[in-house]
Amino acid sequence: MANLEIVQIPVLNDNYVYLMHNHDDKVTAVIDPAVSKPVLEVLKEKGWTLTHILNTHHHGDHVGGNLDLKDATDCLIVGAAVDAKRIPGIDVEVGDGDTFLFGSAEATIYFTPGHTTGHICYHFANEKILFAGDTLFAMGCGRLFEGTPKQMWQSLNKLRNLPGDTVVYCAHEYTEANGKFALSIEPENNDLQHRMTEVRKKRAMNQPTVPFTIEDERVSNPFLRPESLPLQENIGMTGKEKHEIFAKVRQLKDNF
Ligand code: ZN
Ligand code: FE
Repeated sequence: MANLEIVQIPVLNDNYVYLMHNHDDKVTAVIDPAVSKPVLEVLKEKGWTLTHILNTHHHGDHVGGNLDLKDATDCLIVGAAVDAKRIPGIDVEVGDGDTFLFGSAEATIYFTPGHTTGHICYHFANEKILFAGDTLFAMGCGRLFEGTPKQMWQSLNKLRNLPGDTVVYCAHEYTEANGKFALSIEPENNDLQHRMTEVRKKRAMNQPTVPFTIEDERVSNPFLRPESLPLQENIGMTGKEKHEIFAKVRQLKDNF
């Protein structure tokens, strides 16, 4: 297992940019650099040299710092092959199931379309770390800007089947609003109630609620819980297909 250190950098309104340093090999990646300046500041503070940018998708709040950082550091930019035209400065094009070496640490790429048609996630299986971009949020998921509900359901289903102790780093602090919605459609869920109590405490102290684990999501994220009978009943979807239940939950959240 590689010795990885992750620094969470809050930027813009509610984005998280992550710097990840591999102490064994002295390589450093930034995941979804919305902006460049705070990233360069942390690199300087830490004495790390940026070697990689890992992009999950093409949105400006995920690739906005790409070209500045490449100019400043000559780092390699990794992104989805199918979205190469929309990832500024892309050098390494990856697809579903590909592996990518970050020094001695190996990432597996999952193709997770739905939020955008070219979204990917980075899974460091040995280190139990997932960079989920805008696919999976704490108690939520990304909006369907480009993909279909069925695609997004399949993407989320891949992620929910990862080991429960996988630590998930997503790109936004949307947790409290997501939890309010979750409670509105599954109020009898004890795990959800307890999680929201913790989340409200953290947010009141301006602390991040990210990262979280896959197990946290299995028990409290309504987008991953189409099998929940109370949830099915509460939204009038008893006995429907999982992707149909997911689509209904997404639609209700969009109008919440
Ligand atoms: Zn996005
Ligand atoms: Fe985003």
